[in-house]
Amino acid sequence: MWNNKMKAFTLSYDDGISQDIRFVELLNRYGLKCTFNLNSGIQTGASTWVGQNDTRITRMNMAGLRELYAGHEIAVHTLTHPDLTKLDAQTVTNELTVDKKNLETFFGAKVTGMAYPYGTHNEEVRELVKKAGLSYARTVHSTNAFDLPTDLLQLPATCHHRAENLMELAKQFVELQTDTPKLFYVWGHSYEFDVDNNWDKIEELFKYISGREDIFYGTNYEVLSPLF
Ligand SMILES: [Zn+2]
Repeated sequence: MWNNKMKAFTLSYDDGISQDIRFVELLNRYGLKCTFNLNSGIQTGASTWVGQNDTRITRMNMAGLRELYAGHEIAVHTLTHPDLTKLDAQTVTNELTVDKKNLETFFGAKVTGMAYPYGTHNEEVRELVKKAGLSYARTVHSTNAFDLPTDLLQLPATCHHRAENLMELAKQFVELQTDTPKLFYVWGHSYEFDVDNNWDKIEELFKYISGREDIFYGTNYEVLSPLF
């Protein structure tokens, strides 16, 4: 796996919002790969709200997204971003399968994973995720560690990019010598860099973690598919 490397770095970003344009520029500049989790039922500029610090957050229209996200992975975030644990089984399946189909049609690529809206799930939801033909589903749980996931339908991250110890974890990972596969997995929303006014923080991480011979840089699918 991972071109015979023992360490991999991946990212997962949600909601298809306009700050992804600046985020993708950064990813591409540093040769990093990300998975973008999209809600095809509300992927429109009409979906807009004001977040913390009066930051305007707006989903992008579909036109141009195939070009924007080229080289990265697209994954399900459900059709309309509901809390899946509050819906009946048929509606959960509709939220999953229709989003998957829409994204596959629009992006012309097979969609194999997802991120749970709000990170919420339960056993019934996970069963429906599997039935919908999805192989992995990201939660909002952080491990602060680099172990490979044991349950791909309750996939944790190493940390959110807002973690106080983000650079400390990055340093641990870079310095790690290992004979078994280790994964550094970061997630978030790109609008948080506007809210927190700290685009420099994510660029610092990218500059530090990128371009290393012993690290494989892949999308969630590229990193996780050997475990499917
Ligand atoms: Zn979301």
